[in-house]
Amino acid sequence: MRGFLSFLLDSLVPLSCVVCGRWIDGDADPPPRGAVPAAGGAFDPGGLFHELFAGIRMPARVLCPACWRSLDRAVADAALPLGSGSPAPLISPFYTNDALLALVRFLKFAGGRSAAPPLAWWMADSLRRALDRRGVRREVGAVLAPVPLHPRRLRERGYNQALLLARCVGRELGLPVEDGALVRERATKSQSKLGEDERAENVRGAFALRRPDRIEGRGIVLVDDLVTTGGTARECLAALLAAAPAWTAVLSAGRVRDVGRASGTRA
Ligand SMILES: [Zn+2]
Repeated sequence: MRGFLSFLLDSLVPLSCVVCGRWIDGDADPPPRGAVPAAGGAFDPGGLFHELFAGIRMPARVLCPACWRSLDRAVADAALPLGSGSPAPLISPFYTNDALLALVRFLKFAGGRSAAPPLAWWMADSLRRALDRRGVRREVGAVLAPVPLHPRRLRERGYNQALLLARCVGRELGLPVEDGALVRERATKSQSKLGEDERAENVRGAFALRRPDRIEGRGIVLVDDLVTTGGTARECLAALLAAAPAWTAVLSAGRVRDVGRASGTRA
């Protein structure tokens, strides 16, 4: 039985795994060290709190250990081809699979804000490694820019999940979040119900640059929950590139395995 009260409670502080419904053992969540396959290193549960409101914090509990282990760790960054210029690195800790989709659906559609801190922990870990590999000193001029929601969708949902993720990543890495650099000018359909060509058409020209002064000469990391065809990320980067950033990258919690290849074939 899953009554309204339990739904409400789970939205605030999940008591059962959002993927399989199993009760989460207090000792086992956040996931124990090594719960998720190796590429990410040791999991630090210390910072994984979910702020309910006004400074009241609860541990971010979302997955049972078995479902943590079922997430599919990405082994390499992808490259997202852009219309012109060199491709943007696409950095994601996970490949999309059923468990990740369930977790992201919880974050987006079930009021599950508590899914943001653990997802962002892995995103921060992947971004830190990617910047280190490229010799980018993240303290210098890098900024996180969440994919914006249309104001109407924001009112319905109450929050922008990409902004929640960006804030948590920003806290982990000491990077500023630039919310408002981009705006979504046109309300678009949910991408999840559309095919690849429809997705590209759905978001074409949907984003506009509002604060080029905040972007110019800086390294921009666009933050989203999932990258599937890359259509949304490409449209956002096209708008951001008009402000002449020093470099761009895309950071998402998950991506499909062949996002770069599929886009590359088409481009
Ligand atoms: Zn589970």
